[in-house]
Amino acid sequence: MPKRKQPKVRREDLKPGENLCDHCTAKCCRYFALPIETPTDWADFDHIRWYMIHGNVSIFVEGDTWYLMVLADCKHLLDDNRCGIYHDRPQICRNYTTENCEYDDDSCYDKLFEAPEQIWEYAHAVLPPKKPAKSDRLSLPIVS
Ligand code: SF4
Ligand code: SF4
Repeated sequence: MPKRKQPKVRREDLKPGENLCDHCTAKCCRYFALPIETPTDWADFDHIRWYMIHGNVSIFVEGDTWYLMVLADCKHLLDDNRCGIYHDRPQICRNYTTENCEYDDDSCYDKLFEAPEQIWEYAHAVLPPKKPAKSDRLSLPIVS
């Protein structure tokens, strides 16, 4: 008989002294995100499309800030979801707390693009029509 999946422990149900990370699949160790310049023209969106074409890259927007998110597990993450270099982990990992972390599966962004086709569709919706590049134009032979 298949094992019944245990319900996820809710953060408000933690017992005194218990650590939320002990119930987590180390979500915060499986990606990183960097702010990027707000795209304003076709060239900017084309750059973003290029980032995303590489795979495992999403773009999200919070307020006025655009972020590039790379979905990649940290090389020091162990099979049991613990940190393999805990005492030597980077400062950014030390500063991170469970207070507003993504444990609860309720992350919500103002905008989220998970595929290059989505960002390109968005560019078509918000930008003026794209002028064809010279190299895109067909050069047909002149027939006299
Ligand atoms: S800080 Fe939050 S997301 Fe990161 S491992 Fe702990 S509970 Fe999970
Ligand atoms: S160094 Fe440790 S805490 Fe930091 S991302 Fe990697 S596994 Fe997570």
